[in-house]
Amino acid sequence: MTMIDTDPAAVGDAPTAALYRLTDVTRTYRQKQRVIKALTGVGLEIGAGEFVTIQGPTGGGKSTLLQLLGALDRPSSGSVVLAGTDLAKASDAELGRVRAREIGFVFQGFNLIPTLTAAENVDMALEPLGLPKAERATRVAEALAHVGLADRTDHKPTELSGGQQQRVAIARAIVKRPRVLLADEPTGNLDESMRDEILAVLEGLCAEGLTLIVVTHDSAVARRAHRRLRLDKGTVRDITR
Ligand code: ADP
Ligand code: MG
Repeated sequence: MTMIDTDPAAVGDAPTAALYRLTDVTRTYRQKQRVIKALTGVGLEIGAGEFVTIQGPTGGGKSTLLQLLGALDRPSSGSVVLAGTDLAKASDAELGRVRAREIGFVFQGFNLIPTLTAAENVDMALEPLGLPKAERATRVAEALAHVGLADRTDHKPTELSGGQQQRVAIARAIVKRPRVLLADEPTGNLDESMRDEILAVLEGLCAEGLTLIVVTHDSAVARRAHRRLRLDKGTVRDITR
């Protein structure tokens, strides 16, 4: 069953406050003779507006889980329901639509296009939405103002600090007004003061209702979350207390 329709609002609202509901999720990679079980039966609910961090050792399955949450991949078995839509059963086109509208991504390395200005980088995320040009410009300006970069819209990435570049990346992620922001080590390349600057921006967005799911090795980041998860050998454990 799919709840995605032609309405631009896209994903239908779930009957409960759970934004994500994962049931018995496995993800197995097959490489020639080898079978790698990256996720081995994950059950998880994440509520709308939650700030959840995912910690754990390298190879534990964090990026694999984030890719499933981000509609970039499908599980080998089990279901990944986002606001009523099972991403495990969705077509490629449906997954693409969910990614374009519902999910913002932030990466450790910022992933900005070096030849484009901050505003142009942010505008890229609106490409698939087919909005009128004036609306796009308004949204880009608002998103950059939201992360405190109203005065840096015409700067290229090399003319910005690491913290500012990551704030442009966050603006790019939120400009489409997604339900959830997924971040893989968003402060991994930043010093402490820039980390705190990014944390403040993320917490501000969460306070406005955005759901945050952040993979991090930094316990200073995890301490600020509502809920801390640990992913080890493909299994999730709650380590909030
Ligand atoms: P983490 O992000 O916690 O370091 P990953 O999700 O990247 O963990 O990886 C979990 C396991 O799955 C690791 O053993 C990794 O080598 C393997 N893996 C991840 N992606 C692939 C892939 N595309 N093909 C094969 N194996 C993969
Ligand atoms: Mg990883």
